[in-house]
Amino acid sequence: MQLTRQVHLVGSGRLGLELSNDFDCHVFLLDGGSEAALIDAGVGLETEKILENIRATGLAHKLTKIILTHAHSDHMGGAGELRAALDAQVIAPAEAADWIRAADEKAVSLELAKRAGYYPEDYRLQGSAVDVEVREGDVIRVGELELGVIETPGHCRGHCSYLARGERTLLFGGDLVFFNGAVILQNIPDCSIQDYAASVDKLEGMDVNALLCGHMTLPLRNGQRHIDLAIQAFRGLMVPKNLL
Ligand SMILES: [Zn+2]
Repeated sequence: MQLTRQVHLVGSGRLGLELSNDFDCHVFLLDGGSEAALIDAGVGLETEKILENIRATGLAHKLTKIILTHAHSDHMGGAGELRAALDAQVIAPAEAADWIRAADEKAVSLELAKRAGYYPEDYRLQGSAVDVEVREGDVIRVGELELGVIETPGHCRGHCSYLARGERTLLFGGDLVFFNGAVILQNIPDCSIQDYAASVDKLEGMDVNALLCGHMTLPLRNGQRHIDLAIQAFRGLMVPKNLL
């Protein structure tokens, strides 16, 4: 499903448009002209549905990178299978890279999430090689586009957002900030309200057009308006509303 001239949605679960497995986050395909990249990889169940959607865009031949926002299962569980199927590099936040390589279910709070009923008991996280680790200020080139790396912990550790300034400003925000300024704060060990507030604050004045977040509604024009709602809530010492 094409969202903008440069962005396609190729995976999306029950907290979205139901294009692929129920547990998938939004999986985006970014077309940078001579090269394309995926942003996030879904949960790793029925990954062939994501592959079918990628092939339907006609862009699979130039897909060289799989860029992960964080190591939660719904975002990275499909990375290993997609890496093999597409012969692409996996790029991930440095702090999360070893959890992804080891499929560390404890470090990524999957044990807790299963106990809370968010994933089936028999679900097993698949790890993936990580070819490139990124940190604050790094730039990822996707053809003619540049993605700036912004470290945005709070939802969890090892969370990055990626900003592209092309014909419109795109923010691939993972689970940082959503439609109407919602957030996902969870009772897991590496979630931090203070880090969350500081991360959202970094996005002030970015003039984001498309807020390409990990779940639910995707504002394509006035993304900054939604980000600013979260900034204002945190500055008022409040917690923005939770998405879930
Ligand atoms: Zn998450």
